[in-house]
Amino acid sequence: SKALQINNLRKTYANGFTALKGVSLDVEQGDFFALLGGNGAGKSTMIGIISSLVNKTDGDVKVCGFDLETQRSQAKSMIGLVPQEFNINMFEPVDEILINQAGYYGVPRKEATIRARQLLEQLELWDKRKNMARELSGGMKRRLMIARALIHRPKLLILDEPTAGVDIEIRRSMWDFLTKLNTAGMTIILTTHYLEEAESMCRNIAIINKGEIVKNTSMKTLLSGL
Ligand code: ADP
Ligand code: ADP
Repeated sequence: SKALQINNLRKTYANGFTALKGVSLDVEQGDFFALLGGNGAGKSTMIGIISSLVNKTDGDVKVCGFDLETQRSQAKSMIGLVPQEFNINMFEPVDEILINQAGYYGVPRKEATIRARQLLEQLELWDKRKNMARELSGGMKRRLMIARALIHRPKLLILDEPTAGVDIEIRRSMWDFLTKLNTAGMTIILTTHYLEEAESMCRNIAIINKGEIVKNTSMKTLLSGL
């Protein structure tokens, strides 16, 4: 079954600029999918719409079968989003950030504490659990955002440029973590403007340019054609 079904999606912003010109795209459950495109191609707009942060102009989006328009809360609960910018409260302790996030999804505090510990250990942040977010390095903040995106146990993890500004060692350990997560069954979609990043992890890929999907294929096929 499908983790994501996008049909003829259009977005025109208030200033009249059309950022998505009728995008159609399917992502299978269990896939590790890359959305590749240069600056301004429309990646963040697409991610924004899928995660209900941006309103679409036209078209249909289904997340794990739930329609974004008519079943918005179910669709939202299926998604874990790691945005590009550090939108975390820098003055809150790491463990509280996770437990509070779980609270938004109705996860009881006791259960949230168990999940937080698991995620912090997996993401090598357990030692930092009592630190404030602002005391973490850039790579640690990224990993904290991944933990936060997973605390309500979504079916689909979406990462917008996950390794932007992250040094190579941290990047490798993030790739490693994401690959393990995918192997355990998580559907993952990431945006990137580096083919190299997509290449090392992703099974399928769509290339977006000026609001249109110009290629949608397996990574194998793409690489064999280069
Ligand atoms: P909408 O309500 O259409 O989704 P927003 O509220 O996100 O639009 O943006 C309001 C206005 O801010 C836009 O009409 C645009 O003029 C400006 N704006 C915001 N972000 C950008 C951007 N990345 N590029 C160009 N203009 C932008
Ligand atoms: P990407 O993530 O691939 O860099 P974006 O989705 O951020 O691309 O942006 C796609 C296009 O839409 C860009 O030309 C950008 O300037 C424009 N854009 C983004 N947000 C807004 C906005 N709120 N209002 C107007 N234009 C916007």
